[in-house]
Amino acid sequence: MKITLGKKLSLGFLIALIGSLIITSIISNVRISNEFKKYLVDEHNTKINEIVKFIEGSYNKNNGFSNDSQESIVRNANMDELYIEVRDNSGNTLFSSGTAYMQHKNMMNSMMGGRKSSMMGDLSNINTGEYKEEKHEITKDNSVVGTIIIGYYGSSYFSSNSLTFINNLNQSFIISFFITLILGLLISFFLSRQIASPLEKITKTASDMRRGNLGVRSNIKCNTKEIEELACSINYLAETLQNQEELRKRLTSDMAHEIRTPLTTLKTHVEALIDGIWEPSKERFQVFYEELDRLSKLVNNLRNISKLEQAGITLNKSKFDLSSEITNIVDTFKPIFMKQNYLITTEITEKIIVYMDKDNLKQILYNLLSNANKYLEINGRVKVSLFESRGYIVIEVEDNGIGISEKDLPYIFERFYRSDISRDKNSGGSGLGLTITKSLVEANGGKIQVKSKIGEGTAFSIEFPKKDICM
Ligand code: ATP
Ligand code: MG
Repeated sequence: MKITLGKKLSLGFLIALIGSLIITSIISNVRISNEFKKYLVDEHNTKINEIVKFIEGSYNKNNGFSNDSQESIVRNANMDELYIEVRDNSGNTLFSSGTAYMQHKNMMNSMMGGRKSSMMGDLSNINTGEYKEEKHEITKDNSVVGTIIIGYYGSSYFSSNSLTFINNLNQSFIISFFITLILGLLISFFLSRQIASPLEKITKTASDMRRGNLGVRSNIKCNTKEIEELACSINYLAETLQNQEELRKRLTSDMAHEIRTPLTTLKTHVEALIDGIWEPSKERFQVFYEELDRLSKLVNNLRNISKLEQAGITLNKSKFDLSSEITNIVDTFKPIFMKQNYLITTEITEKIIVYMDKDNLKQILYNLLSNANKYLEINGRVKVSLFESRGYIVIEVEDNGIGISEKDLPYIFERFYRSDISRDKNSGGSGLGLTITKSLVEANGGKIQVKSKIGEGTAFSIEFPKKDICM
């Protein structure tokens, strides 16, 4: 049977609460009743000893009982609910306190009867009905002159005050039991709601996401760290899935666009030829060739990316001087930049020897530099740097071109992704260059990062761990 988290927590709290209440009550009940009983018995014994001493004293003083002392003994006997009798050595009764003590038995029976089932029920093992007698000798000049008989019901331990005390204690126990129970119930309900309700909201968000609504977010305010983290993770997941979904849609339309352009050109040209509008000539076929070349490059690039992304591609590694290699690549680009009045400079740490795939390096730099060239504007400047930093070999390509907006920045390494400005610029390109660059960098154990500000420029930075590429 499935049970909700809220109910489970409440039930758990409740069982723990009742359990601990019962255990605490039993322990305190047993201890208090034992101590109380001991106290009452001690009190009773002290009382009897005092009476014996008093009777012995007044007997020895008067050689018998004066009227005054008899009255005082009867008063004591009645007050303490005792039977007191004094006998001489031959067994004749000299004095007796009468039957007033008997009343106590009746009073006790009625009082104890109603209490048997209460929490202090433990005290009921003092037999209320049993009558006991104690004998004490009266001595004078070291010889026994008589006997004092003191009789009482077991219940005479309990004065009405002590019974009231016990009853009050019992009531306090019961009241505190219920107050704690109600308080505990309220707290457990509140706590379990606090845990269960944000979880319910998170579950609802996850269900909405499952149904395809990726725009939902769980906006919960919760001071439980784990639940807050769970909500953040779910929101992050929703955001990532939403981005992926948008990217997938954009990828399909971009891909269709990239393929459609050359196909449309080819189609219109061929139609014109068929309709006899155009004569087949070398120039016409040259256009066909260029479009077909564009298409086959696109397909090749796509194939290369998927090959690169498959694990375990074979690298053709060799040892070479990275510093002079980068200088050479930049040199080959200089004429292209100079033609457009752009400036390309270098800042290269000499003699960095590496062990990596040289062709890959060439392609990486080719892609970055042709991008920089494509997206430069008047007074365009590019700087290529090579240096070592914190155990890494770092290559940087920095330009002061059009820059990339914050919105586009996370996607520029995705297939076919091109910012709207670069589309407007009509600079050609299919949006695969950086995807290939990233795959090549990662295949050689490196990492590529980009920093850019729209209108200010872009800086790509590639880091290779020194321990991987320097031998
Ligand atoms: P391809 O490289 O396939 O010919 P592309 O240059 O448009 O086409 P990528 O090299 O992958 O594609 O770059 C993706 C997008 O990133 C570009 O369309 C452009 O919007 C942006 N971008 C890349 N480099 C720069 C740069 N240096 N300055 C400004 N934007 C850039
Ligand atoms: Mg490019």
